[in-house]
Amino acid sequence: MSFSLAEVARVSHDLWPLSGAEDWDAPGLISGDPASRVESILLAVDVVADTVTEAVETGADLLLAHHPLLLRGVTSVAEDQYKGALLARLIRSGCGLLAAHTNADTVVDGVSDIIAQRLGLTEVRPISTGSAPGTGIGRVGRLPEPVTLGTLARALAGLVPPTATGIRVAGGYQDLVQTVALCGGAGDSLLREPLVRSADVYITSDLRHHPASESREQSIVAGVGPALIDVSHWASEWLWLDTAAAQLRERLPGIRVAVSDLRTDPWDFVVTQ
Ligand SMILES: [Zn+2]
Repeated sequence: MSFSLAEVARVSHDLWPLSGAEDWDAPGLISGDPASRVESILLAVDVVADTVTEAVETGADLLLAHHPLLLRGVTSVAEDQYKGALLARLIRSGCGLLAAHTNADTVVDGVSDIIAQRLGLTEVRPISTGSAPGTGIGRVGRLPEPVTLGTLARALAGLVPPTATGIRVAGGYQDLVQTVALCGGAGDSLLREPLVRSADVYITSDLRHHPASESREQSIVAGVGPALIDVSHWASEWLWLDTAAAQLRERLPGIRVAVSDLRTDPWDFVVTQ
């Protein structure tokens, strides 16, 4: 059983409409002949040497990645640069490349929605509402009962695949939390959102010193504000791939869809003091 790459792209854009992407984003088909046949798809968060090798060696006809390989002004795909080298390898192997990025963050059953579901949150809604009901960036919801911040962090650690840097937390281990705001991937741009400020805890990735410190300091002055949980960017988004794979299998019957288990988080080890 096979579908054309154009048909697969149409299904992808139906599941994750391009209109839901942020203005700066570049999701969609990156390389490949729309008329080529697709029998096998590999899903991954990142287009890196390891995942491209996996796609080529497993005979995938399409690598569907969360992060677009070409995002900002590209003037060369020469093969002495890694993006050119990866693209050339995919093209020579007859493997197309398609990205579903912020358009897959905002939808129902998208990246943040899946984290909310896996944490068992109820009354889930977007932090910043999109154009269609239930869609938008980030999610906020409630745990069935209050738990300590430490318990929530440990539950999250058991949910996401392991990474060298683990999970960092700002807040008291024994503090009780129930309202949880979250954003898969880098979510520091949402730190000032009212639904984040009023949550007991905000889970996201890539929190740098200043946004994290400023959020905590503002919480002291205001007497209200979220604890922070910083989880691996790759790990937080990887959870979505299983759902995306199931959706593709349903829409494209007979096609082989696999999820890459390779850890593409860039950090390899930490030294604790
Ligand atoms: Zn991301």
